[in-house]
Amino acid sequence: MIPESHPRYKSLITREKLAQYTKTGIVSLEGLTAHGRGEAFDYLLGEETTESALRAEKIAAALLLSANHPVISVNGNTAALAAKEIAQLQLASKARVEVNLFHRTDERVQAISGLLKEHGITLVEGTVSRYIPLDHDRGLCHFDGMHSADVVLVPLEDGDRAQALIDLGKKVIAIDLNPLSRTSKVATVPVIDEVTRALANIARFCTELDQDEITGLTREIHGTGFIRDALEYIRERLLNVLD
Ligand code: ATP
Ligand code: MG
Repeated sequence: MIPESHPRYKSLITREKLAQYTKTGIVSLEGLTAHGRGEAFDYLLGEETTESALRAEKIAAALLLSANHPVISVNGNTAALAAKEIAQLQLASKARVEVNLFHRTDERVQAISGLLKEHGITLVEGTVSRYIPLDHDRGLCHFDGMHSADVVLVPLEDGDRAQALIDLGKKVIAIDLNPLSRTSKVATVPVIDEVTRALANIARFCTELDQDEITGLTREIHGTGFIRDALEYIRERLLNVLD
């Protein structure tokens, strides 16, 4: 039992939740270690959305709203942490949602799909093919899902798939707390924020933006600026941490 008074209550509850989800196969053991890396960067970023990340989230919303075929790619950690927020974002953006896993088995796909559907999410399902040229299972996707997408939102992504999606001519919105990851570096828009905060903010912006704002926000996008901002933010915090 984790006492609510514990200073790291939220983080401990999240860890407990992820550990529970390993028992149903929704989260992989590797997923737990990936969460640890995310947590470390969240600590450095002060565990809140920075102004810069909020701007990235606004652009992400504009990209989703301006897309012809927006798709949200969901892995085990994202489903476990943020099924509610994905449902909100699907409603607000009309994006398709597709399960995409590195450690892919039919059982895991079923378990994750079940969890997402319980939250009211409509999934692209059926046959997958290796439409993304990768020699691991994150290359498998649906024809009417990621294969046909022009904008793909990839929370907690691996760098080589983000790059492969860019190489296919798609715009990639990454959500990744690590500003140094290959994913953040190659994404059209790297959202350097925790996944539940980021998805909730993007969903809110989707309900707020008007057509002029969408056009303005998507005209010219400088992804690397968000990486510089995050690194600068961390640097400032580290310099002042003992003051
Ligand atoms: P890359 O392959 O892009 O260089 P990586 O190997 O670190 O990076 P993975 O381990 O494949 O990437 O993916 C996990 C990424 O997701 C990590 O970079 C981690 O910082 C990030 N991450 C983990 N948990 C969260 C979370 N809750 N919110 C946002 N990002 C997270
Ligand atoms: Mg990686």
